[in-house]
Amino acid sequence: MPDSPQASSPLQVLQQVFGYPAFRGQQQAIIERVSKGHDALVLMPTGGGKSLCYQIPAIVRQRQGLGSSIVVSPLVALMHDQVCALQEAGVAAAYLNSTLDFEQARQVEQDLLAGRLTMLYVAPERLTTARFLELLQRLYQQRQLALFAIDEAHCVSQWGHDFRPEYRQLDILSQQFPGVPRIALTATADHLTRQDIAERLQLEQAESFVSSFDRPNIRYTIVEKRDALAQLKRFIEDEHEGDAGVVYCLSRKRVDEVAEALVRAGVDALPYHAGMDASLRQANQDRFLREEGVVMVATIAFGMGIDKPDVRFVAHLDLPRNIESYYQETGRAGRDGLPSHAWMAYGLQDVVNQRRMIDDSPAEERFKQVQTGKLDALLALAEAIDCRRVRLLAYFGEPSQPCGNCDNCLNPPDVWDATELARKLLSTVYRLQEKSGFGFGAGQVMDVLRGRDTDKVKQYGHDTLSTFGLARGASEAELRPLLRQLIATGALLVDASRFNTLHLTPMARPILRGEQTVLLRAPVTPSARRRASGTRSAGSRLGVLAAQLDDAGRQRFDALKRWRADTAREHGVPAYMIFHDSVLAAIAEASPDTLAALNGISGVGEAKLERYGRDVLQQLELA
Ligand code: ADP
Ligand code: ZN
Repeated sequence: MPDSPQASSPLQVLQQVFGYPAFRGQQQAIIERVSKGHDALVLMPTGGGKSLCYQIPAIVRQRQGLGSSIVVSPLVALMHDQVCALQEAGVAAAYLNSTLDFEQARQVEQDLLAGRLTMLYVAPERLTTARFLELLQRLYQQRQLALFAIDEAHCVSQWGHDFRPEYRQLDILSQQFPGVPRIALTATADHLTRQDIAERLQLEQAESFVSSFDRPNIRYTIVEKRDALAQLKRFIEDEHEGDAGVVYCLSRKRVDEVAEALVRAGVDALPYHAGMDASLRQANQDRFLREEGVVMVATIAFGMGIDKPDVRFVAHLDLPRNIESYYQETGRAGRDGLPSHAWMAYGLQDVVNQRRMIDDSPAEERFKQVQTGKLDALLALAEAIDCRRVRLLAYFGEPSQPCGNCDNCLNPPDVWDATELARKLLSTVYRLQEKSGFGFGAGQVMDVLRGRDTDKVKQYGHDTLSTFGLARGASEAELRPLLRQLIATGALLVDASRFNTLHLTPMARPILRGEQTVLLRAPVTPSARRRASGTRSAGSRLGVLAAQLDDAGRQRFDALKRWRADTAREHGVPAYMIFHDSVLAAIAEASPDTLAALNGISGVGEAKLERYGRDVLQQLELA
């Protein structure tokens, strides 16, 4: 379908094609620059709205007679979704990748040469073939090459998390097609990667647009791990019943166990990991994308290229590798800008496991040191008693104020001064080592401190130590968080190669001397925990969107969702591609009775109005 010729300013395209009333954040500035033919480097968090930053210039320039735009994208699934969504919005878009057969690929090439495409998505390895470059040359000679967009631009950098060697060859774009504007986009917040992108893609001269990396709609919660599975079940039940979500686990075995347990608890959960049969894995991913309310339990093999907008929560049952990974993984929640949740359960064993993984890896010493430093930063985030978001953004070099939307802001933890107990614990570790000539694990340390004369205590004569029974009244529940924090902050070292024995480091010294205080989050009693989660879950139980509607509105919302599910199945596209939840909720609330009124709702563009408008009005009448 040719794009309608009349509207060609960026704002008009935004409103008519995409149905949105206004630009977000830096979109306008970026789109105006690129539409005029300038280069740009765009750093924007996930869900920030990067796609429009090249899609609108592509449409604008096409309408100005400047030809087609080429979008470089690394993943087949992502390409397919984007093209599908563009076609739904009435834009002439296509892709060229390995899923097409020879005939189909030929047809796309012909469409491109004939000027029938506004946007063509290609994989980098396809773009750099002699055949495709020759095709581009022909367009270039005719001045019909409007723009190059390089999506997921961090793939060009080996510092990034998804290095793709083919991206390295993209420097030919500036060499072979000088004068064609280029825009590179990424959600990577890491400074080193940013620099690398500009250099590798020869975009040093390009204007760069750096957005805030805050994701204000994501609420961060980190809980102390007790019975992780039970905690997860309660979290989903209390706060995310019927919502789509992702649960990350470290191992394949754990993924299978957790998925099974959730299914038994009545959650529509599916497993995903690299050890599964490829077709089953693909089927699970498709169900997650296409259906509503599916919870994907996965290893970190899952996620890249998943741009499902309505993922309401991301839960970590195990600690991620570092803050970058945590930010990436949690960032998959709430792309649609609606309230979402990043939830993590964190415990002593996580710290020990992660340290061991670094120690056991065959990497060079320097690399291990960097990894250890990064892990420490993540542990500090997990142990924090102040705003999580402030810490997270500070890690990416962005100053901010307490957010009001993380666990610590919403329920400031009670803090107690654990300095005395920490000194007793550290001296016990020291005495044990001194007496026996080798270190002991957490269990023995706690038994000695608490004055328990177990067989092992008697066997080593540890009941004669001066620290024996120094903290007779302390419970294990009090001592574990203390141990965890001492390990997290580096005062204690766990030697994974020798039965996880504990050892003092130089950082223990200021604590032992009483020069440094140790503040700890007060242990939460089970009844207090129930109270807290009870107040929080009110209002979110029925889903954030429906909760804002009155009874009649909710009925309309449900009717629209049923209609959308049927239509999605008929068209073979994910439901969110027809209308997002937020759009359906806005329609249900406004309950328009004419096409003109429906047109005024954010997210309803011209093509969708034409295609679905009457059906939607009919649903509203019947509901
Ligand atoms: P990113 O690629 O940066 O992760 P997307 O381009 O997928 O983000 O956009 C995230 C969501 O925000 C999409 O659902 C998109 O339709 C929506 N969106 C983008 N720009 C706007 C806007 N100006 N107004 C309303 N919604 C927008
Ligand atoms: Zn906060």
